[in-house]
Amino acid sequence: MASKRLAVSIHAGSIEELREIVRTRPYDFGCRPRATSTAEGGHALAALLTQKQYDELKKDDTRVDILSDGVSDDRSAQETIGSGDRFHGGQRAPRGLGSRPDGVNHDLGGIMNVGEINSAIKGLAREYHISTFCVPNKTYEGSSGLGGLVGGSCNDEYHVYFTAGVHARERGGPDNLIYFIADLLYAQKHGTGLTYGARSFSNADVLRVLSTGIVFLPLVNPDGVRFDQQTDSLWRKNRNPASAIPGDDFSIGVDINRNYNFLWDFRLHFDPSIANSISLASEDPSDETFHGTTAFSEPETRNVAWVFDTYPRIRWYVDIHSAAGDMLYSWGDDDDQGADPTQNFLNPSWDGKRGVLGVNDYKEWITQTDLGNIQTAASRVTSAMVSVGGRSYTPEQAVGLYATSGSSEDYAFSRFQVNPSLNKVYGFTMEFGHPTNFYPTKIEFQQNVIDTAAGFMEFCLAAADIGLV
Ligand SMILES: [Zn+2]
Repeated sequence: MASKRLAVSIHAGSIEELREIVRTRPYDFGCRPRATSTAEGGHALAALLTQKQYDELKKDDTRVDILSDGVSDDRSAQETIGSGDRFHGGQRAPRGLGSRPDGVNHDLGGIMNVGEINSAIKGLAREYHISTFCVPNKTYEGSSGLGGLVGGSCNDEYHVYFTAGVHARERGGPDNLIYFIADLLYAQKHGTGLTYGARSFSNADVLRVLSTGIVFLPLVNPDGVRFDQQTDSLWRKNRNPASAIPGDDFSIGVDINRNYNFLWDFRLHFDPSIANSISLASEDPSDETFHGTTAFSEPETRNVAWVFDTYPRIRWYVDIHSAAGDMLYSWGDDDDQGADPTQNFLNPSWDGKRGVLGVNDYKEWITQTDLGNIQTAASRVTSAMVSVGGRSYTPEQAVGLYATSGSSEDYAFSRFQVNPSLNKVYGFTMEFGHPTNFYPTKIEFQQNVIDTAAGFMEFCLAAADIGLV
């Protein structure tokens, strides 16, 4: 089922033209479509196209540049995914790049396979005596996810939450998170700082980051990741076959990041003019963004939410995705506005009017204080990632080129508005990696580990500065 796909950049003179492509073409734009400015003063949109889609688009006189063959040999599972178990069932702990004397030049080896991700977490628990937990809902194939806790001593002392491994094909996300935690624990135990390329953090920084209390769940979607690593099929969803159409392999699975309870019923909540784009969400099981039969229909989605409920003082959340090179902040359903509190996702009088961007209609309400806090944190994270010295990253509002329904960072930030007794959570999505480059080469994988670790460090420092409660 491995399918050749081309990572491309689609060019247009205006954002509106790109938005129209997203609205009308059933292409794979990754987690969500992003527009970037080009050196010639135009705009570009990354996508992953089949040869047929590429040929069709070229016929329309659209400029399409090929960035890479998305599944070339040096990106294959055989070349980049670890075999066996380098952590020996938890007898050995992983160690990140920031704590090593040879630093970023150390060869981490391959991307972890599913077994290694769990062994790595157990290895951290054994070496550093941290607590772990199992999420309560088993996946379709019977997996139960393992998470970890650092820096706190009771459930109320955890204020920062990271998840990874949601979209199966976004290789290296779990590794980024595990190596970051491994570096923190090593530096704490040995009284050192951490260095990522040109960016260094002191031991005092390490202790301050740990003092925020961090919950980490590195592999939200084990079934999907296992399948993707076996097939090189650029698999995105989980493997739940409940809605599958016989004979259509692509109709297996639900997009976890469209399954959260935030404006999930997109036909009701969004403007009909934007609702047919699969980028928003889809009720067709064959689409990459199939949103399930109901909000929270999927065990993986409920597991992410269970952590919020179990550690009720979480205030800062990052869902780790790829591949774009940005840090996204609320909201993802429409443009932000701070003037009219009645224009909000809970108000049914705006149903059918949301999601049209760049015009003076419905926009999602956010206070200036909250917007300032999340923009400050996102900017600090991308600045830290840039300071490593590898490449550029940008902070952006999640809605960007097109609205999304049912995504994690909006769910996180909506919780306290749906239920005022819950803690306010600032939700973010980090998209590491180059645009639509879901399968990094080994060298790119290593750079992603370095860049994201610096970003996570700065995220926790920003959280501590802005406020944990
Ligand atoms: Zn993703």
